[in-house]
Amino acid sequence: MSSQEKLNVKVGRRAFLKMAALSGVAGATMLNAAPAVRSASDEELKSPYPGSKKVKTVCTTCSVGCGIIAEVYNGVWVRQEVAQDHPISHGSHCCKGIDSIDNVRTEKRVKHPLKKVNGKWQRISWDQAINEISEKMLKIRKESGPDAAMFLGSAKMSTEQAYYFRKFAAMWGTNNIDHQARI
Ligand code: SF4
Repeated sequence: MSSQEKLNVKVGRRAFLKMAALSGVAGATMLNAAPAVRSASDEELKSPYPGSKKVKTVCTTCSVGCGIIAEVYNGVWVRQEVAQDHPISHGSHCCKGIDSIDNVRTEKRVKHPLKKVNGKWQRISWDQAINEISEKMLKIRKESGPDAAMFLGSAKMSTEQAYYFRKFAAMWGTNNIDHQARI
């Protein structure tokens, strides 16, 4: 019998279970011989980032500014806790604030302007982004009038930013302005 034929032999249910049990024993024996992981020590569990600093800050996702304790280790934000004594949030967060740390550590964070070209995102300069967007906006206003545009503010805007955003819409020539959370 060739080796290929041997591999193709139908294995009965009982034989298969025996083989699975044997391979499990072999696997466990290998793991015992060379453990790939180890348990953390009590000290490591108590303080996984020795010497880290706890910095009081606020969530910047919206203007409420709920309190966060950011743990910083070697200049990197590694963990976060709710600031229990914060005068506004009183030890709570919404679902966005709980993951504030992902504003800096996620690989999905957008760090520069991107433009979709033939279905693929390409990095462009800030100058190119501003020029292309403003040219398109001016074209829309020229062809369809100022009310063809709608301005939607951000939950992240401060009072001053919201003031200037409103002024911008007025100078553009429309009253089509609202807060994005209302749509
Ligand atoms: S996004 Fe949520 S956690 Fe962050 S400041 Fe606003 S309400 Fe607070």
